[in-house]
Amino acid sequence: MFELNGKVAIVTGGNGGIGLGMARGLAGAGARVVIAARNREKSAAARDELGAGALAIDVDVTREDSVAALVRSTVEQCGRIDILVNNAGINIRKAPDVLTLAEWHEVLETNLTSAYLCSHAAYPEMKKAGAGKIVNIGSMLSIFGAGFAPAYAASKGGIVQFTKACASAWAKDNIQVNAVLPGWIDTALTRRAREQIPGLHDNVLKRTPAGRWGTSDDFHGIAVFLSSGASDFVTGAAITVDGGYSIQA
Ligand code: NDP
Repeated sequence: MFELNGKVAIVTGGNGGIGLGMARGLAGAGARVVIAARNREKSAAARDELGAGALAIDVDVTREDSVAALVRSTVEQCGRIDILVNNAGINIRKAPDVLTLAEWHEVLETNLTSAYLCSHAAYPEMKKAGAGKIVNIGSMLSIFGAGFAPAYAASKGGIVQFTKACASAWAKDNIQVNAVLPGWIDTALTRRAREQIPGLHDNVLKRTPAGRWGTSDDFHGIAVFLSSGASDFVTGAAITVDGGYSIQA
Protein backbone atom coordinates (compact mmCIF):
# COMPACT_ATOMS: atom_id res chain seq x y z
CA MET A 1 0.00 0.00 0.00
CA PHE A 2 2.88 2.38 0.74
CA GLU A 3 5.37 1.27 -1.86
CA LEU A 4 6.33 3.55 -4.74
CA ASN A 5 8.37 1.27 -7.00
CA GLY A 6 8.27 2.46 -10.61
CA LYS A 7 6.85 5.88 -9.66
CA VAL A 8 8.50 9.16 -10.69
CA ALA A 9 8.35 12.10 -8.27
CA ILE A 10 9.35 15.74 -8.80
CA VAL A 11 10.19 17.60 -5.58
CA THR A 12 10.65 21.35 -6.04
CA GLY A 13 13.15 22.79 -3.59
CA GLY A 14 14.16 19.18 -2.92
CA ASN A 15 17.84 19.99 -2.41
CA GLY A 16 17.54 20.84 1.31
CA GLY A 17 15.29 21.19 4.35
CA ILE A 18 11.74 19.85 4.21
CA GLY A 19 11.95 19.11 0.47
CA LEU A 20 14.97 16.86 0.96
CA GLY A 21 13.19 15.16 3.87
CA MET A 22 10.24 14.41 1.59
CA ALA A 23 12.58 13.29 -1.21
CA ARG A 24 14.31 10.87 1.18
CA GLY A 25 10.95 9.39 2.19
CA LEU A 26 9.87 8.95 -1.43
CA ALA A 27 13.18 7.42 -2.52
CA GLY A 28 13.11 5.09 0.50
CA ALA A 29 9.69 3.82 -0.63
CA GLY A 30 11.07 3.09 -4.11
CA ALA A 31 10.28 6.21 -6.16
CA ARG A 32 12.69 7.73 -8.67
CA VAL A 33 13.06 11.32 -7.43
CA VAL A 34 13.79 14.44 -9.48
CA ILE A 35 15.34 17.17 -7.33
CA ALA A 36 14.19 20.46 -8.89
CA ALA A 37 15.80 23.66 -7.63
CA ARG A 38 18.27 26.42 -8.59
CA ASN A 39 21.44 25.73 -6.58
CA ARG A 40 23.26 23.10 -8.70
CA GLU A 41 25.78 22.14 -6.06
CA LYS A 42 23.11 21.45 -3.42
CA SER A 43 20.93 19.60 -5.94
CA ALA A 44 23.80 17.38 -7.09
CA ALA A 45 24.61 16.49 -3.47
CA ALA A 46 20.97 15.59 -2.80
CA ARG A 47 20.78 13.50 -5.99
CA ASP A 48 23.97 11.62 -5.10
CA GLU A 49 22.71 10.94 -1.60
CA LEU A 50 19.36 9.58 -2.83
CA GLY A 51 20.83 7.22 -5.45
CA ALA A 52 18.20 4.84 -6.92
CA GLY A 53 18.12 6.67 -10.27
CA ALA A 54 17.55 10.10 -8.73
CA LEU A 55 18.05 13.12 -10.98
CA ALA A 56 18.75 16.79 -10.43
CA ILE A 57 17.16 19.24 -12.86
CA ASP A 58 17.60 23.02 -12.66
CA VAL A 59 14.42 25.02 -12.32
CA ASP A 60 13.26 28.46 -11.30
CA VAL A 61 9.69 27.75 -10.22
CA THR A 62 8.66 31.36 -10.78
CA ARG A 63 9.25 31.08 -14.54
CA GLU A 64 6.78 29.35 -16.83
CA ASP A 65 9.43 28.44 -19.42
CA SER A 66 11.69 26.94 -16.76
CA VAL A 67 8.85 24.84 -15.30
CA ALA A 68 7.88 23.64 -18.80
CA ALA A 69 11.50 22.60 -19.37
CA LEU A 70 11.52 20.71 -16.03
CA VAL A 71 8.44 18.72 -16.99
CA ARG A 72 9.74 18.06 -20.51
CA SER A 73 13.11 16.91 -19.26
CA THR A 74 11.57 14.67 -16.57
CA VAL A 75 9.35 12.95 -19.12
CA GLU A 76 12.26 12.56 -21.58
CA GLN A 77 14.50 10.99 -18.93
CA CYS A 78 11.97 9.09 -16.79
CA GLY A 79 9.03 8.55 -19.15
CA ARG A 80 6.30 9.73 -16.74
CA ILE A 81 5.34 11.92 -13.75
CA ASP A 82 3.32 10.29 -10.95
CA ILE A 83 4.02 12.58 -8.00
CA LEU A 84 4.60 16.34 -7.70
CA VAL A 85 5.65 17.95 -4.43
CA ASN A 86 5.30 21.74 -4.59
CA ASN A 87 7.69 22.62 -1.80
CA ALA A 88 9.93 25.50 -3.00
CA GLY A 89 9.39 28.55 -0.86
CA ILE A 90 10.89 31.72 0.60
CA ASN A 91 9.94 34.30 3.20
CA ILE A 92 10.66 38.03 3.46
CA ARG A 93 10.01 39.09 7.03
CA LYS A 94 8.66 42.65 7.00
CA ALA A 95 5.47 44.31 8.25
CA PRO A 96 2.92 45.16 5.53
CA ASP A 97 3.64 48.90 5.82
CA VAL A 98 7.28 48.42 4.82
CA LEU A 99 7.04 45.44 2.46
CA THR A 100 7.56 46.63 -1.15
CA LEU A 101 5.48 45.54 -4.12
CA ALA A 102 8.52 43.78 -5.60
CA GLU A 103 8.96 41.79 -2.37
CA TRP A 104 5.25 40.93 -2.29
CA HIS A 105 5.46 39.60 -5.87
CA GLU A 106 8.67 37.67 -5.16
CA VAL A 107 7.08 35.77 -2.25
CA LEU A 108 3.73 35.18 -3.97
CA GLU A 109 5.39 33.98 -7.18
CA THR A 110 7.81 31.64 -5.41
CA ASN A 111 5.32 30.14 -2.93
CA LEU A 112 1.95 30.21 -4.71
CA THR A 113 2.17 30.95 -8.45
CA SER A 114 4.84 28.24 -8.62
CA ALA A 115 2.35 25.63 -7.39
CA TYR A 116 -0.06 26.65 -10.14
CA LEU A 117 2.70 26.59 -12.81
CA CYS A 118 4.06 23.17 -11.79
CA SER A 119 0.63 21.55 -11.28
CA HIS A 120 -0.65 22.99 -14.56
CA ALA A 121 2.41 21.66 -16.41
CA ALA A 122 2.41 18.21 -14.76
CA TYR A 123 -1.36 17.58 -15.05
CA PRO A 124 -1.37 16.31 -18.69
CA GLU A 125 1.21 13.64 -17.80
CA MET A 126 -0.78 12.50 -14.75
CA LYS A 127 -3.99 12.47 -16.74
CA LYS A 128 -2.30 10.36 -19.43
CA ALA A 129 -1.11 7.90 -16.75
CA GLY A 130 -4.63 7.67 -15.29
CA ALA A 131 -3.49 8.69 -11.79
CA GLY A 132 -1.44 11.27 -9.90
CA LYS A 133 -0.53 12.73 -6.53
CA ILE A 134 0.17 16.40 -5.85
CA VAL A 135 1.42 17.53 -2.43
CA ASN A 136 1.54 21.28 -1.73
CA ILE A 137 3.48 22.66 1.21
CA GLY A 138 1.62 25.20 3.34
CA SER A 139 2.59 26.47 6.79
CA MET A 140 1.23 27.37 10.21
CA LEU A 141 0.66 30.71 8.45
CA SER A 142 -1.93 28.94 6.28
CA ILE A 143 -3.97 29.08 9.52
CA PHE A 144 -2.57 31.91 11.66
CA GLY A 145 -1.60 35.48 10.89
CA ALA A 146 1.78 37.04 11.70
CA GLY A 147 2.58 40.74 11.48
CA PHE A 148 6.07 40.02 10.20
CA ALA A 149 5.01 37.87 7.23
CA PRO A 150 2.07 39.32 5.27
CA ALA A 151 3.06 38.06 1.81
CA TYR A 152 4.11 34.66 3.18
CA ALA A 153 0.82 34.26 5.08
CA ALA A 154 -1.17 35.26 1.97
CA SER A 155 0.77 32.76 -0.15
CA LYS A 156 0.35 29.92 2.35
CA GLY A 157 -3.35 30.64 2.92
CA GLY A 158 -3.69 30.61 -0.86
CA ILE A 159 -1.96 27.24 -1.10
CA VAL A 160 -4.72 25.61 0.96
CA GLN A 161 -7.49 27.03 -1.22
CA PHE A 162 -5.58 26.23 -4.42
CA THR A 163 -5.20 22.65 -3.12
CA LYS A 164 -8.96 22.33 -2.65
CA ALA A 165 -9.66 23.74 -6.13
CA CYS A 166 -7.27 21.32 -7.84
CA ALA A 167 -8.52 18.39 -5.75
CA SER A 168 -12.05 19.17 -6.83
CA ALA A 169 -11.15 19.69 -10.51
CA TRP A 170 -8.97 16.62 -10.94
CA ALA A 171 -10.73 13.98 -8.82
CA LYS A 172 -12.32 12.77 -12.07
CA ASP A 173 -8.79 12.03 -13.35
CA ASN A 174 -7.88 10.02 -10.23
CA ILE A 175 -5.43 12.74 -9.15
CA GLN A 176 -5.36 13.45 -5.41
CA VAL A 177 -4.18 16.88 -4.30
CA ASN A 178 -3.38 17.57 -0.65
CA ALA A 179 -1.51 20.12 1.44
CA VAL A 180 0.94 19.59 4.30
CA LEU A 181 1.19 22.32 6.92
CA PRO A 182 4.53 22.07 8.74
CA GLY A 183 5.03 23.52 12.19
CA TRP A 184 8.39 25.00 13.12
CA ILE A 185 11.08 22.90 11.44
CA ASP A 186 14.83 23.31 11.78
CA THR A 187 15.96 24.29 8.24
CA ALA A 188 17.94 27.08 6.51
CA LEU A 189 14.71 29.11 6.32
CA THR A 190 14.04 29.06 10.06
CA ARG A 191 17.71 29.39 11.02
CA ARG A 192 17.44 32.89 9.50
CA ALA A 193 14.12 33.46 11.34
CA ARG A 194 15.77 32.58 14.65
CA GLU A 195 18.38 35.24 13.99
CA GLN A 196 15.76 37.84 13.04
CA ILE A 197 13.06 37.18 15.67
CA PRO A 198 14.25 37.47 19.30
CA GLY A 199 13.01 34.64 21.55
CA LEU A 200 11.65 32.58 18.66
CA HIS A 201 13.60 29.43 19.47
CA ASP A 202 12.37 29.19 23.07
CA ASN A 203 8.83 30.33 22.26
CA VAL A 204 8.46 27.50 19.73
CA LEU A 205 9.71 24.96 22.30
CA LYS A 206 7.28 26.32 24.89
CA ARG A 207 4.24 26.28 22.59
CA THR A 208 4.85 22.96 20.80
CA PRO A 209 3.30 20.08 22.80
CA ALA A 210 5.92 17.69 21.41
CA GLY A 211 8.51 19.91 23.11
CA ARG A 212 10.90 20.17 20.18
CA TRP A 213 11.47 21.72 16.78
CA GLY A 214 10.67 19.45 13.84
CA THR A 215 13.35 18.00 11.56
CA SER A 216 13.35 17.16 7.88
CA ASP A 217 13.08 13.46 8.87
CA ASP A 218 9.59 14.18 10.24
CA PHE A 219 8.40 14.50 6.61
CA HIS A 220 9.31 11.01 5.33
CA GLY A 221 6.04 9.48 6.46
CA ILE A 222 3.61 12.13 5.27
CA ALA A 223 5.36 12.26 1.87
CA VAL A 224 4.96 8.51 1.42
CA PHE A 225 1.36 8.46 2.68
CA LEU A 226 0.18 11.29 0.40
CA SER A 227 2.07 9.89 -2.62
CA SER A 228 0.97 6.26 -2.32
CA GLY A 229 -2.14 4.14 -2.70
CA ALA A 230 -2.65 4.50 1.06
CA SER A 231 -4.18 7.96 0.43
CA ASP A 232 -6.31 7.21 -2.65
CA PHE A 233 -9.51 8.46 -0.90
CA VAL A 234 -7.81 11.47 0.70
CA THR A 235 -8.01 14.65 -1.36
CA GLY A 236 -8.24 18.39 -0.72
CA ALA A 237 -7.00 17.92 2.86
CA ALA A 238 -4.57 20.15 4.74
CA ILE A 239 -2.63 17.95 7.17
CA THR A 240 -0.56 19.49 9.95
CA VAL A 241 2.88 18.04 10.76
CA ASP A 242 3.61 20.31 13.69
CA GLY A 243 4.09 18.38 16.94
CA GLY A 244 0.72 19.80 18.03
CA TYR A 245 1.62 23.50 17.63
CA SER A 246 -1.71 24.34 15.97
CA ILE A 247 -3.90 22.66 18.60
CA GLN A 248 -2.32 24.38 21.59
CA ALA A 249 -4.56 27.03 23.16
P1 NDP B 1 14.79 25.90 2.71
O1 NDP B 1 15.23 27.32 2.58
O2 NDP B 1 15.72 24.89 3.31
O3 NDP B 1 14.32 25.33 1.31
C1 NDP B 1 13.67 26.12 0.36
C2 NDP B 1 13.86 25.45 -0.98
O4 NDP B 1 13.18 26.18 -2.00
C3 NDP B 1 15.32 25.38 -1.39
O5 NDP B 1 15.59 24.05 -1.77
C4 NDP B 1 15.42 26.32 -2.58
O6 NDP B 1 16.38 25.81 -3.51
C5 NDP B 1 14.01 26.26 -3.15
N1 NDP B 1 13.63 27.45 -3.91
C6 NDP B 1 13.44 28.72 -3.45
N2 NDP B 1 13.13 29.54 -4.47
C7 NDP B 1 13.11 28.77 -5.60
C8 NDP B 1 12.87 29.04 -6.96
N3 NDP B 1 12.57 30.27 -7.40
N4 NDP B 1 12.92 28.02 -7.84
C9 NDP B 1 13.23 26.76 -7.42
N5 NDP B 1 13.46 26.44 -6.13
C10 NDP B 1 13.43 27.44 -5.24
O7 NDP B 1 13.45 25.97 3.54
P2 NDP B 1 12.44 24.88 4.15
O8 NDP B 1 12.87 23.52 3.84
O9 NDP B 1 12.21 25.29 5.53
O10 NDP B 1 11.12 25.23 3.31
C11 NDP B 1 10.51 24.35 2.41
C12 NDP B 1 9.03 24.67 2.32
O11 NDP B 1 8.45 24.46 3.61
C13 NDP B 1 8.73 26.14 1.97
O12 NDP B 1 7.61 26.18 1.13
C14 NDP B 1 8.44 26.76 3.31
O13 NDP B 1 7.62 27.89 3.20
C15 NDP B 1 7.73 25.61 3.99
N6 NDP B 1 7.68 25.70 5.44
C16 NDP B 1 8.80 25.65 6.22
C17 NDP B 1 8.70 25.69 7.59
C18 NDP B 1 9.86 25.60 8.51
O14 NDP B 1 9.68 25.72 9.73
N7 NDP B 1 11.07 25.37 8.02
C19 NDP B 1 7.40 25.81 8.25
C20 NDP B 1 6.29 25.88 7.34
C21 NDP B 1 6.44 25.82 6.00
P3 NDP B 1 17.36 26.75 -4.42
O15 NDP B 1 17.73 27.92 -3.59
O16 NDP B 1 18.48 25.84 -4.79
O17 NDP B 1 16.53 27.11 -5.61
